Amino acid sequence: MSKARDPGRREQSERAQLSGRREQSERAQLSGRREQSERAQLSGRREQSETHLALVRRARRINRKLAVAFPHVYCELDFTNPLELSVATILSAQCTDVRVNQTTPVLFARYRTAADYAGANRAELEEFIRPTGFYRNKTGSLIGLGQALVERFDGEVPHTLNELVTLPGFGRKTANVVLGNAFGVPGLTVDTHFGRLVRRWGLTGETDPVKVGKVIGELIPRREWTDYSHRVIFHGRRVCHARKPACGVCIVAHDCPSYGLGPVAKEAAAKLVKGPETEHLLALAGLSGQS
Ligand code: SF4
Repeated sequence: MSKARDPGRREQSERAQLSGRREQSERAQLSGRREQSERAQLSGRREQSETHLALVRRARRINRKLAVAFPHVYCELDFTNPLELSVATILSAQCTDVRVNQTTPVLFARYRTAADYAGANRAELEEFIRPTGFYRNKTGSLIGLGQALVERFDGEVPHTLNELVTLPGFGRKTANVVLGNAFGVPGLTVDTHFGRLVRRWGLTGETDPVKVGKVIGELIPRREWTDYSHRVIFHGRRVCHARKPACGVCIVAHDCPSYGLGPVAKEAAAKLVKGPETEHLLALAGLSGQS
């Protein structure tokens, strides 16, 4: 009887082939995984298979590093009370905080209460806020805000998210800015910088601000939300720019899967850093006295 016709031997041979193939495939998988892991470590990129626990740890590590980079965070809009912050935040839509801060001193001196906005002369108010852009829409929002506060909240800015989002000119972002900075209620401010950075860090792939806020709210402790928002936004404005991030001097580079989007050479990256913390940020990157 030939070997091929012996059922016992055929079975044995098939088992051997199968086991050989499985072993080969497992070896290949193992080697592939190692290679993948080394590549990921080398490039600083995270594998998509990061566990939830690892993701939480990385998100919090990034937060701790940002706290070292930006030990004094604050709302960059100037205000002295919840109404002023509400107005400044409405004006900051499609406008820089610097421009808003140049505009508000005269505005706040003229309009001191919700009733002042409620009864404002539209043309006059438009002139005050014209430098912030979209001034017709914003004027409508400010007058509407004043009227709503007078009619429904005794002229005071309410301090719950549910009430704030009912006000003209208020979305969740504005409401969270006011909650966190005027009332000390923890809030995540998901603006364009915040969304861009948490996606670059691979903390979420969501683009809808509400969904982004929900995901990040589960990664970062609630008590940290307001300062975390400031830190992320500071980092977005000073280091991790939309077009050319300063990867080579970035304090969270080791935890960032997008490392390399911008220049990685320290000297080139250093030139991209902006803002009053530049010297401190460059010193942390080992480049003292280069601001
Ligand atoms: S600057 Fe570069 S390394 Fe730093 S967070 Fe942005 S993309 Fe990542």
